[in-house]
Amino acid sequence: MVTGSFWAHEPLGEYAPLRGFHQTDAVVIGGGFTGITTALWLCRAGLRVVLLEGETLACGASSRCAGMLSVTDRFMLKRLEQQRGSAVAEAYIRSRRAAFGAIRSLARETEELEWQDADACLLADGKGFDLSAEAELLRRGGTAADELQGGSAPLPARQILAVRDMAHIHPMKYFACLTRMALRHGLTIHEHSRVVAVETNLAQTPEGAVKAPFLIIATGYPIINVPGWYFLRLSQRRRYLAAAQGSVGENMFYDGRGRFALRGIHGGILAQMDGGMVGERRENSGHRRWQQWLGRYLGEPSFRHEGIETFSADGLPYIGVYSSKTPNLFVATGYGGKGLLGSMTAAQLISARVLGLAADSDFVFSGQRRGYAVTAAEAATTLAMAGRYAGGVLHPFAPRCPHMGCKLVYSRERRVWECPCHGSRFDGIGHLLSAPATEPAIIRRRH
Ligand SMILES: Cc1cc2nc3c(=O)[nH]c(=O)nc-3n(C[C@H](O)[C@H](O)[C@H](O)COP(=O)(O)OP(=O)(O)OC[C@H]3O[C@@H](n4cnc5c(N)ncnc54)[C@H](O)[C@@H]3O)c2cc1C
Repeated sequence: MVTGSFWAHEPLGEYAPLRGFHQTDAVVIGGGFTGITTALWLCRAGLRVVLLEGETLACGASSRCAGMLSVTDRFMLKRLEQQRGSAVAEAYIRSRRAAFGAIRSLARETEELEWQDADACLLADGKGFDLSAEAELLRRGGTAADELQGGSAPLPARQILAVRDMAHIHPMKYFACLTRMALRHGLTIHEHSRVVAVETNLAQTPEGAVKAPFLIIATGYPIINVPGWYFLRLSQRRRYLAAAQGSVGENMFYDGRGRFALRGIHGGILAQMDGGMVGERRENSGHRRWQQWLGRYLGEPSFRHEGIETFSADGLPYIGVYSSKTPNLFVATGYGGKGLLGSMTAAQLISARVLGLAADSDFVFSGQRRGYAVTAAEAATTLAMAGRYAGGVLHPFAPRCPHMGCKLVYSRERRVWECPCHGSRFDGIGHLLSAPATEPAIIRRRH
């Protein structure tokens, strides 16, 4: 498994670590799509912004991204409407459209994102999908969609919902473009500056601190447990990415249940697939499924790697104030594999709130949202996480995750320690690889 990014792109630059005490208008913690887009939006609004990245820019999920942009990527709108009402479902689609429009405007401004218009084809592999209801909701939210027969897809499908006028891009050229624009608007970036503590209006790194009226946590999985309690509502899942020879044309193809997706690229095919929860003991089953699927439909891949993505309990991201008690502390997380549009929505909503403006989809994404019915699958996930947590706490000798004390699991294939509760990862000797932990793990014995 390759660990680098699939995408060739210009260097993103190198930025000195934070040292000493500083004051500014806003601090963004995390340098992935969420951090850089939100920082750009705040800079454009005239704020002085400091971005603190624990490693290097785009070292997390963002460098794994397949570059697919679609208002919807699975059959979930009807369920959303049933659980939270049509106002929420329509506002959700409108917000996704607004994010899509903002990225398209950037693509027109710079002409370098390799923007390719495409339809997003959602594949229904069996009964139980109401394509007409999904299409109707999309239309009400301002997006054209048509039902097609399954035979026209490169993968087996009984029916297809073609969401019109979507696109795919080169995600890292987009990232480089956001970074350049943000620097031009005065953004200050510090790499190798992991935030180890957040207090009211203050972010601390091992060698420095920045004070600001507004703090934005854009670390993928949030690094603060309380308030907010996001660790009870989020999970981290692997996502595999592979390139293979072949052609699927210009359109994008999504499994209607959210398990895999395909797009064309430079005469080949780029495929992504869900790989199960981080720290899962039966990790090879996800990998095996992935290999079988690749072999069956795409042949031998020329490239493959994996990334980690954060999922919310109800399938919608959490974007907005961290908790009702922290009006100046913000969070954006839980995109569930849809972070290109999600991070743009985060930039739009958070910058509006910082500027004191009302945003009409605040209530859709609020981390304090209530009133949706938890499905059996979500309840099972939460219970499984609770079980893993308890197992970790009760095990007396295993290495522990410094985040909340869960027992770490060693992945021999990847040579990393992983937390099965919340997804933090550490290398073989305990150096921190990814959030929510902010410190290294103490590994006492060799495995
Ligand atoms: C294989 C794969 C394919 C995907 N394909 C698509 C796609 O086609 N379309 C789409 O829309 N989405 C896709 N996604 C999802 C998308 O890439 C993510 O949702 C998005 O990149 C998340 O961005 P982020 O900034 O929130 O998180 P990240 O990119 O993970 O960034 C978080 C950053 O925070 C930093 N950090 C963590 N802790 C700290 C700390 N304590 N102090 C300072 N910094 C810290 C990390 O180092 C990291 O750089 C894909 C994801 C994967 C894994």
